[in-house]
Amino acid sequence: MSKAQFLRQAVKRMSQQGAGLHPFSYAIWYEYVSGINRDLQIALDARLTTEGKLDDPAACALYYKHVADLDAKTALRIGDSVGDLVGQVADSATHAGDQASHYSDSLERWSATLQHPANAKEAQPPGLAEILRGTRDMQKAISDLQERLENSSREAQELRHEVARAREEALVDGLTGLANRRGFDLALTACLQQDLPSGHGPCLLMIDLDRFKRLNDTHGHLFGDKVLAGVGEMLRANVKGKDTAARFGGEEFAVILPRTPRGGAVGLAEALRALVAASRIRTSGSKQLLIGNITVSIGIADYVAGESAAEFIARADQALYAAKGEGRNRVNLAPRPQAEVVNK
Ligand code: GH3
Ligand code: MG
Ligand code: MG
Repeated sequence: MSKAQFLRQAVKRMSQQGAGLHPFSYAIWYEYVSGINRDLQIALDARLTTEGKLDDPAACALYYKHVADLDAKTALRIGDSVGDLVGQVADSATHAGDQASHYSDSLERWSATLQHPANAKEAQPPGLAEILRGTRDMQKAISDLQERLENSSREAQELRHEVARAREEALVDGLTGLANRRGFDLALTACLQQDLPSGHGPCLLMIDLDRFKRLNDTHGHLFGDKVLAGVGEMLRANVKGKDTAARFGGEEFAVILPRTPRGGAVGLAEALRALVAASRIRTSGSKQLLIGNITVSIGIADYVAGESAAEFIARADQALYAAKGEGRNRVNLAPRPQAEVVNK
């Protein structure tokens, strides 16, 4: 079933309940009918069996227990569905609101014509008073509906923004503001889907701080964090456009260069290495010290057609550990597999 069909089913189920037309209800019923949230289905079925209908407090409780409180990965998946769903509902609400408004205008005009017929002397048709009363009731119902739809539409927009914000936050590392591991994985997958001739990228840099444990032990973990944030800042300032800088984990960073050939990647890696080596970071506390000697080792791999993301990362990692073995504070390029012909 398509998302639109789930949406239609969800709206149908929602309208049979006592709960209002708010985004929580949309989210619950969408998840229910699309079958992606087993626990919610069980809880909702149990509720319907005992109470018959779902009211507002029960809808909110189910939302917080079974939809909002999921781990980040599931939330991302659902975020997409809810984002699409509320987007569609917001659009439908706006459309329905416009239609209700047009209809209301026509009723107004029609009612005025009936009340003031061109030939006033003509007897009013029987039942006119009742038709007019019915017309006014209908106008009132439409304007109430329009107001509810406008409120729902506004709430849906807000929820959509929240989902987008949560999604972004789930891909960003809190300490450095760079992409986190999940953001890195997404960027690498997207990058490997491009179809480029061999030797024109992508390239991958794996960057690891040298002797970082010692730095932590000497100056404290908080200072270590400050150094990580500082290195993150240097990467952000020097990695732009289509390229992605990420905190791969711990004291290891990665840079994805989707369209840079190996020569360019080596140049950038060397520039980053030199920049970090030349940096001085100030300790906090009463005796402030400028700490130098912060260095990184960098491994580079240029992509070989057909290799998996894991193989690509592993080659960059091996190059990194070779750089460590050669004495640290250096850049090392992974060899390409023997059979490969390189078109530089
Ligand atoms: P090498 O040059 O071989 O990479 O040595 P190293 O000491 O950097 O490597 P090792 O893997 O032995 O230690 C990594 C250290 O990084 C240990 C860990 O406490 C520290 N570290 C990892 N994540 C963080 C963090 O978020 N903040 C701080 N302050 N330290 C971290
Ligand atoms: Mg290290
Ligand atoms: Mg490490």
